[in-house]
Amino acid sequence: MDRLKIATVWLGGCSGCHMSFLDLDEFLVDLADKVDIVFSPVVDVKEYPEGVDVCLIEGAVCNEDNLEMIHKVRKRTKVLVSFGDCAVTANVPAIRNQLGLGNAESVLQRAYIENSQYNPVIPRNDGIVPKLLERVLPVHEAVHVDYFLPGCPPPADRIKALLGQVLAGQTPKLEGKQLKFG
Ligand code: SF4
Repeated sequence: MDRLKIATVWLGGCSGCHMSFLDLDEFLVDLADKVDIVFSPVVDVKEYPEGVDVCLIEGAVCNEDNLEMIHKVRKRTKVLVSFGDCAVTANVPAIRNQLGLGNAESVLQRAYIENSQYNPVIPRNDGIVPKLLERVLPVHEAVHVDYFLPGCPPPADRIKALLGQVLAGQTPKLEGKQLKFG
């Protein structure tokens, strides 16, 4: 079996899911023997590559950059995993959907004008500050997701259970779905 190409992506999340990934400890050494991490916050690659086998997505889809990225990732990836509760349900970033704060503009007003003591101004800079979506989305509302790995963050054992099946060349059977790799 060829070395699998694995990626991890960080959208609207706190990086806690990636910290849990690092909690895999010595299993990371096994992983490094068998897979290539082709894109991740923990490697210095700027462009998401073509032909990725498995990608773990941390975080919700909060702004236009997140939306563009998740569509690119979906096109270039065989198996997409919603990694953690922010990806699965939108979780913490979606609090702004629930609290009667209204649309993106009213959230910006509240954060940068009403709650500001000094220099109240909403940061706007096309191409530098991404525009907020009106509503924060879980990943599966933006693109098709193959597997869901819940938890805030998912415990390392749960991540290992999924990746262990992938490394063993088995078909992950989470959610009763079956997919083949390679
Ligand atoms: S699921 Fe929890 S740990 Fe993961 S990004 Fe969201 S808040 Fe952070």
